Amino acid sequence: MTTFATSDDCKVYREELRNRLPARIFDAHVHIRSDGDFPPDFQFPADSYHRRFDNGFTLARWREIMAELLPQQECFLNCFGTPHQAANRDVVPAVDNHHVFGMALLSPADSVDALQTRIEKNRLAGVKPYLNFAATHCNKAPNDVEIADMLTPAQLEYLNAAGLIITLHIPRARRFADPLNQRQMVELCRNYPRITFLFAHIGRAYYRQNILDANLEELADYPNAWFDTAMFNHQVVLANACERFPISRIVFGSDAPIAFLRGKSVEINNQYAYLMGEPYRIGTTLYDPQCTVTFSTFFYEQLRALLDVLSPEECENVLFNNAYKLFRNTTARYLS
Ligand SMILES: [Zn+2]
Repeated sequence: MTTFATSDDCKVYREELRNRLPARIFDAHVHIRSDGDFPPDFQFPADSYHRRFDNGFTLARWREIMAELLPQQECFLNCFGTPHQAANRDVVPAVDNHHVFGMALLSPADSVDALQTRIEKNRLAGVKPYLNFAATHCNKAPNDVEIADMLTPAQLEYLNAAGLIITLHIPRARRFADPLNQRQMVELCRNYPRITFLFAHIGRAYYRQNILDANLEELADYPNAWFDTAMFNHQVVLANACERFPISRIVFGSDAPIAFLRGKSVEINNQYAYLMGEPYRIGTTLYDPQCTVTFSTFFYEQLRALLDVLSPEECENVLFNNAYKLFRNTTARYLS
């Protein structure tokens, strides 16, 4: 009996994934829920994808679902909480820095002392800022937030001195094609060389023209610029990024639990949308209420796309080695 995977999932795993995936998988982008992270009476809206996991998406639940979706792989992760104003940012994942690595949520409102305590007491690999925290703190509309609003210079100085990782979800409507974003991404990498900037979702370049307009070659010159592939199932964009940027600095991320919903991301006329097989809203959602097709999970669609684009050796690196090395090196200080 499975608690999550369907018989169709098991078939996809058996026929398309089992023999092609490496033995170990490192998912560098997972949002987990920990005890006490949200107030007890807090509820997400009815169409929020969080409601799909109303009983909580704890590390234990992640492990259980992964054991069903990838039963023969040994799974590792980097995780953080849900970036929401109601979340208590002092609640962070419980890590072992072997299979489980973690990050703290970060608002520009947080003092360096609070940040340092949060990280060092909990042996974390870094931080996950988010544009909604910056919007509130800077009193801006979410679409007007700049990368420079998301962390303060004092926070960056501390993270640089400590040599930690920032998983950065870049803002603004044009995402990776936005010249201001491009300039600020380069400035961060240049000014804070000891921070690893793990730009999430390949700079959110979810469609072809966006990645074509991205400054990948310029960022390739900075060894501390990295990307995760969270929520990507677009082969053309993945192939383009891997051609123009060192594969040794690209890591697999899924964005679970969103990735465990049934759906697929599609490019439509220089835009992208999520085709959804379940009645939850994420970004621009196109919903299939009549169940005209049988959906797999975003998670499997991401793995399918990576397997199509990468050689077996590249797969081992993107799906495991690159992230494992980065997170082990970053957290080595906590081992002694
Ligand atoms: Zn995410």
